[in-house]
Amino acid sequence: MPEFCDVALPVPLDIVFTYRIPPNISPVIGGRVLVPFRQRRMTGIVVELHDRAPSITAKNIIAVVDPAPVLDQPLLRLGRWIADYYLAPVGEVFRTMLPLSAEFKRTIGYRITEEGRRALHLAGMSGSSARSRRPPEDQATEFRVLDYLAAYADEAAPREEVVHNESGVSHFSPVLGEVGKFPPDAPAPDVSPQSRDMKMLVREQPLRSATHATRALLDGMVRKNWIAREDLSAPQDARRTTKIAVLKSGEGKLKDNQRRLIDTLAASGGKVPVHQLQSADIPRTTLGTLVRRGLVELVEEPAEFTVSRARPRPSPFDFEFNPAQQSALDRLRDAVTNRQFSGLLLHGVTGSGKTAVYLAGMRFVLDAGRSAILLVPEIGLTPAVAADLHQIFGDEVAILHSALSDRERAEQWHRIQRGDARMVVGTRSAVFAPVADLALIIVDEEHDASYKQEENPRYHARDVAVMRAKMSNAVVVLGSATPSLESYFNAKKSKYALIDLPDRVEQRPLPEVEIVDMRLEFQETGREQVISRKLAAEIQERIDRKEQVMVLLNRRGYSPVVLCRTCGKKLECSNCAIALTHHKREHKMVCHYCGFTAPVPKACVHCGSEYVYFLGTGSEKLEELLHGMFPQARIARLDRDTVRGHEDFERTLNALNEGELDLLVGTQMIAKGHDIHGVTLVGVVGADVALGLPDFRAAERTFQLLTQVAGRAGRGQTPGRVILQTYFQDHYSVQYAARHDFTGFYEKELTFRGWMHYPPYSALANVVVRSDKLDEALEWSGLLGKWFDATRHEGVRVLGPAAAPILRLKRDYRYHFVLKSPSREKLNTTLRAMLAEAAKRKIPRTQIIVDVDALWLM
Ligand SMILES: [Zn+2]
Ligand SMILES: [Zn+2]
Repeated sequence: MPEFCDVALPVPLDIVFTYRIPPNISPVIGGRVLVPFRQRRMTGIVVELHDRAPSITAKNIIAVVDPAPVLDQPLLRLGRWIADYYLAPVGEVFRTMLPLSAEFKRTIGYRITEEGRRALHLAGMSGSSARSRRPPEDQATEFRVLDYLAAYADEAAPREEVVHNESGVSHFSPVLGEVGKFPPDAPAPDVSPQSRDMKMLVREQPLRSATHATRALLDGMVRKNWIAREDLSAPQDARRTTKIAVLKSGEGKLKDNQRRLIDTLAASGGKVPVHQLQSADIPRTTLGTLVRRGLVELVEEPAEFTVSRARPRPSPFDFEFNPAQQSALDRLRDAVTNRQFSGLLLHGVTGSGKTAVYLAGMRFVLDAGRSAILLVPEIGLTPAVAADLHQIFGDEVAILHSALSDRERAEQWHRIQRGDARMVVGTRSAVFAPVADLALIIVDEEHDASYKQEENPRYHARDVAVMRAKMSNAVVVLGSATPSLESYFNAKKSKYALIDLPDRVEQRPLPEVEIVDMRLEFQETGREQVISRKLAAEIQERIDRKEQVMVLLNRRGYSPVVLCRTCGKKLECSNCAIALTHHKREHKMVCHYCGFTAPVPKACVHCGSEYVYFLGTGSEKLEELLHGMFPQARIARLDRDTVRGHEDFERTLNALNEGELDLLVGTQMIAKGHDIHGVTLVGVVGADVALGLPDFRAAERTFQLLTQVAGRAGRGQTPGRVILQTYFQDHYSVQYAARHDFTGFYEKELTFRGWMHYPPYSALANVVVRSDKLDEALEWSGLLGKWFDATRHEGVRVLGPAAAPILRLKRDYRYHFVLKSPSREKLNTTLRAMLAEAAKRKIPRTQIIVDVDALWLM
């Protein structure tokens, strides 16, 4: 065994760390190890084993977590590529790739030092200490912490074996004294040698909740040597089991609850995990009673049992493929059979049956004994879709959706790695699924913004999918009715093969789109209308005919702006330079960027004037307006306020599908890929709001949203119609969307992008410098600006520093640079040099956001 190993740790540093390998420990490349880092323990991925002694003494590895690699060579290579391309710390990339945090139990504890005891004692003698310049409440907290730890140590010291267990400090009650509580003449507390024992540790969480200490405050106390921090984190046993209730007999006299529980078990084939039974509203004791009576037995089974079984549904393969679908499938199969990298862009209009092609392609891969990954946007993975997938692929499918707990995610990960599930369906991070013999990756709705991770590492799952397919000699299929400009450009340059599905299935026509110019509407009616006369008439007609309507307004809440007519100021978030939105039902003002809430103002917070006006319309107000206009209609709303999880989303869509709703109002959520046959009218009340934003992708986004929402109309027997209300009726994104003319839009937008040196003609990065102190944000961005000026980077354009369009966000002031270059390599080199300069200037790495291929410049 080599003497050293290099470990990538999940810290914001662009380096790996060298540790010594002690005897009897055998780390493997691609496996996790537990190591000491600063005052903590961390798991990291071993990236190299070697005998090169580092210049400083290396610490020892504490333990090996995985005896075999959890990241194989191709995934390690992919991780390194991501780190390099997105300038992300490699350890953070690996952490993102591995959903295994549940297998690592973090245990950080604190104990009081002798110095801390002395400080506590002195404070007790003299009242509060006047030396410190820090705010008194911080000082009070510090002494609360010392008091708490001292009391715990005193309580614990005399005992033989006091193990501080999972349940925290509940088995004793320390005296929580205030500063100065000790009588002035009290002797210094007796410091017994045992108090230095590790068993005196109080875990961080109980300590913080009892004393309201922040992590920063505890850090300060550690620096003063008043308290000591120990990290006892350790790997957990990954082989989990689940308790299963098994039905033995349903005979005999049963009470209501008992009968219900027996029925639940019987309905699920006689076996249900205990935790699922407890979620039903049956008292916990009922199960115990049934077990005692011998009617139910509890057994332990491998945790995989928790994978939900499908209920039977009609298979989506019940229809015939049309020639275009068949030819798309043939090309996909040929590409897979070739065992060489190839990229296919499947451009299919809304309703053209792309999903059926995906699923048939995956089935082909499964039959060939190989693996496939299907990526879907955030909202698309509903329980119904999951049930369909189980129906087609049985136990061979693993579904990774955002509602999974860390533990469930880890279980699915192991199923995939063992080869038990070779078909993987999931959102963004499923692109890292550890499948063997990968043949096919499909990215559905490849233009969707949810594929870009908006935190470190800021990767784009579509681009990672392409790279992973390349590295594995696999096929990647990008599918969309509105491909991103980047992907379509690549297809035009023959980097991908372009496959068109130009028609809807069963020759259904695309909906007819009518534009209503809202400026004219205002002139003619003399009033600011939310719903035009045309749209109102069309809605009424559909309701009379018992057909269904969707209305899109891509802005949630009731009123987006609260304005004072006296001083002219808006009510803004206290953390962000963003107007607060009025939410009427919840009766509060909400920041849509950071979640900050405030009471609904009765008077202006700036000048006290009572003339506060609530302006503009959000989806909540639209719903109310429609209720008023169509009192007989059954109306529901879909947006982030009414949808808390996939179940809410699906429940509403089901109601629409079953004909229990006449009208569905919502934000862009209603535009996403679902297939409701009764909808014959789509009204667009505000989809062009984005056209007013200073963002070069605004036109593309608007075109996509308009096309997608229009695509919800006329998917059944009756042709659909779209009424598109706009203040930008001449804008090309509105015009082309109304004509369903993707190619026309694409050519025009591409011309503009070329003139402005924007993607896909240039590689682009957004660099944001942020600090909660305005001075610092200005100083740092100024320093970097001067450096950019002084160092000429040939072939790279640097715009900035400029105030970011959202100057203040989540308490941080933000200044940014936009870098553009036709050469990705040059862009990358410049960004790397910039980060090195920032490090030299002691600008913390966490305060500089480097967003390569940024989707938003806000
Ligand atoms: Zn005012
Ligand atoms: Zn905010």
